[in-house]
Amino acid sequence: MKLLLVEDEALLRHHLSSRFGESGHVVDAVPDAEEALYRVDEYSHDLAVIDLGLPGMDGLNLIRQLRSRGKTFPILILTARGNWQDKVEGLTAGADDYVVKPFQFEELEARLNALLRRSAGFVQAAIESGPIRLDLNRKQASAGDEAIQLTAFEYRILEYLMRHHQQVVPKERLIEQLYPDDEERDPNVIEVLVGRLRKKLEAAADFRPIDTVRGQGYLFTEPCR
Ligand code: CA
Repeated sequence: MKLLLVEDEALLRHHLSSRFGESGHVVDAVPDAEEALYRVDEYSHDLAVIDLGLPGMDGLNLIRQLRSRGKTFPILILTARGNWQDKVEGLTAGADDYVVKPFQFEELEARLNALLRRSAGFVQAAIESGPIRLDLNRKQASAGDEAIQLTAFEYRILEYLMRHHQQVVPKERLIEQLYPDDEERDPNVIEVLVGRLRKKLEAAADFRPIDTVRGQGYLFTEPCR
């Protein structure tokens, strides 16, 4: 999942970026609202973590801007302890949840995962389709009792396609899921990864859910629940 992180404290921003990265997210980390607004116009994100106390435009106004621009991804706000007015204003402005500083990373991550599941319409910690099952917490795919051995990138592609099942997902969107924007983006890599993923799903479960939509992208054709 591609996560937008807006936090002006450099140490915290770097710490959160690396922890979210370890958890399998691609992180777009920026120090202020102006940069955040630029990023959301350029790239598509699946959720945002926004500190309320930012230099320049504050977090509340950033959230209002995002919502008024039609951005519907879940937003979690970070706010200082005891500032309950901030929480209320944040939620009113369009945020979905909040975590109070200082916080344990594990709590932040659990709340984010809950938001992601809700936004995708999944209330369980797993997505199932046909014979396969994704454990969203362990980042593991399985068919029956057998684990399907996927690389981290293959898993990310599969999870993204399943979360957006029965929609055409452009290749560029998948590239954004895998690579931070400053790395080289080669669409051929996606073709190779999707090819490998197809072979593994077919070998493990005789399952062929990923169609190529010529010139447009990929389509996970099977319903997911
Ligand atoms: Ca701050």
